[in-house]
Order: sequence, then C-alpha cells, then structure tokens
Amino acid sequence: MAKYYSIAIDGPAGAGKSTIAKRLAKEMGFVYVDTGAIYRTVAYFLDLLGVSPKDVDGVERYIDELTIGIEYDEDGTQHMIMNGMDVSGEIRTQDIAQKASLVSAHAVVREVLLDMQRDVAKSHNVIMDGRDIGSVVLPDADVKIFLTADPEVRAKRRYDELIAKGQKAELGKILQEVKQRDHQDTHRPIAPLKMCRDSVKVDTSAMDIETVVTAIRNVVKEKTGL
Ligand code: C5P
Repeated sequence: MAKYYSIAIDGPAGAGKSTIAKRLAKEMGFVYVDTGAIYRTVAYFLDLLGVSPKDVDGVERYIDELTIGIEYDEDGTQHMIMNGMDVSGEIRTQDIAQKASLVSAHAVVREVLLDMQRDVAKSHNVIMDGRDIGSVVLPDADVKIFLTADPEVRAKRRYDELIAKGQKAELGKILQEVKQRDHQDTHRPIAPLKMCRDSVKVDTSAMDIETVVTAIRNVVKEKTGL
C-alpha cells in the first residue's frame, strides 16, 4: 500500500496556521486541509436554520440534514460545499468563527467530522490544520507542529487583515474575541486544543512568515526526509 504523509499543524486562532500550511502544501505538492472551515460550515448551516450553536438538541436534530463537500480548485484552494452550495466566502466572518467554536464543542459534530478528515489523509499527502489534528484526527502524523503566538499579536494580525480588506475593525474587541475563542477551544471536554507531547512548538510572535515557513520546512525535512 502506498505511504501517504501527513503533517498536522495545530494551534489557536490567528497563529498563522493557514498561511503557513498553504505555503508548505504548495511547495511540497501536498493537499492542504483547513479543518476549521469544516466546523465553520456546520456553524453557518445551523445559523441559517436559526439553531443556536449552544442548543444540543437542535444541533443533534439538524446535523443529519447537512452534507458537506470539500473540493479543491486547480491552485489548491479549498472550497466548502454545503448541501451543494459553495459557502467558502460566507463562512469567513468573525460571527461564524465564534459560532464554530461553540458548535465544535458538541460530541455529535466532532464525530461526524472525524471520518471526513481522516478519509482525506488516507488517500493523499496532507497538511492539515486545526485544533485536534495531532491529538485526535491524525495521532500518527509524521510531523506535528504546535503553532502559537501571544494573543495580542494574533489580535493585531486579524485587525491588520480586516483593515487591509477595507473593513471596519476594533483592536480591543478583536482581542477580546481571540481570548474568548482560546478559552472555549482549550476548555471544552472533547478534543480541546492542547499541545501533544510529540509536537514541535513554534511561537510566531516575533517571527515573520518567511522565517516560520523555513523553520517548519526544516522540521519536516528532518522528520520525513522529504
Ligand atoms: O481555524 P478556524 O478559526 O477557522 O476554526 C474555527 C473554530 O472551529 C475554532 O475556534 C475551533 O473551535 C473549531 N475547530 C475545532 N477543531 C479543528 C478546527 C477548528 O474545534 N480541528
């Protein structure tokens, strides 16, 4: 059977996971799987139905009505398909991020999404980013990276991103949301965000993207020979 490699990148919101993972995937010819987008799709679906992300019964009742597709275009960009509709743009809001964080705490949601994530890794070389990739989804990943940065730095990055897009943003409010999401993601009983014993920790607070990419590329080389 062919050997497929997997690289897990976990860490809190705004640490730079997707930017780094995308760059590495392109360089190495791996498939980049953004697992946060899958949770966001669930949150968006429930939001459209008016189901509160905290409503366990509501989530359990409606989750079966959702079919999620993950598609990739030619340049490797991931698209999220919700019951046949591409919602990749709609899920990229702060509101959906917060709701995804609440929705992702439900056991039923995590169970449904687990196989979906593992299936991609069974037939592709993957770089997967999220919160529980190294700990739960791909515990045998060839490389596990825990990417982090100070909350203030992560909030400032989000702020700069929004301003660059011409959107309104308030740094204090973003910092509060970052801290709230950190708290929710690290304190939930199932698959909380935590660093695995065999993860390599990279703190990006004082690093630029190039430096982070080079550092992680070296770790990958060392661990896989690729
Ligand atoms: O990575 P992103 O910010 O898009 O993730 C949105 C939310 O989805 C996170 O705050 C987290 O609660 C949840 N998530 C998760 N497990 C993953 C990826 C994301 O619980 N593997």
